Amino acid sequence: TDLKELLLSRIRDVEDYPEQGVVFKDITPLLADPAAFTALTDALAEIARRTGATKIVGLEARGFILGAPVAVRAGLGFVPVRKAGKLPGATLRQAYDLEYGSAEIEVHAEDLTAADRILVVDDVLATGGTAEASLQLIRRAGAQVAGVAVLMELGFLAGRTRLAPALDGAPLEALLQV
Ligand code: 5GP
Repeated sequence: TDLKELLLSRIRDVEDYPEQGVVFKDITPLLADPAAFTALTDALAEIARRTGATKIVGLEARGFILGAPVAVRAGLGFVPVRKAGKLPGATLRQAYDLEYGSAEIEVHAEDLTAADRILVVDDVLATGGTAEASLQLIRRAGAQVAGVAVLMELGFLAGRTRLAPALDGAPLEALLQV
């Protein structure tokens, strides 16, 4: 479709970044193009409405850039999920495995309540580890999962499969699949 072609045309492949053999999907050209950024925001806000979300969770750092305008456009609150050690209040913390080693993310516990249905927003779904950990945080906080929405899914990394148990039937929506 026109939307997909517009979005895809504004994503740059950067070879051997951040390491040899990896092709990094760089979304900064899309962010710099107001027509593309607006179209992306509108498409993600439509998913937020369709899934009945009450809040947007954005994953540090590009999930903040995409998630915040989506929240405003859809009339919803925004909650940042950050790398551990950055949030000043009482947090829930979740560890997850990386290719080498592990990482931890955190959320302010009081920002997610049992009355909330959360849509997780990020730019790229790769292995799915970060999104999976965010869903675990949301469920531990007692909130419901409306779904996960990303600009681009890297199908060859099978993040969708990894995410399935944590989604527990909630949708994973990817505007682009490669
Ligand atoms: P995962 O946990 O799914 O392996 O990695 C996803 C996280 O890494 C996301 O927060 C995403 O922003 C980032 N990421 C991984 N690969 C890429 C990429 O090729 N392009 C961009 N923009 N982000 C990526």
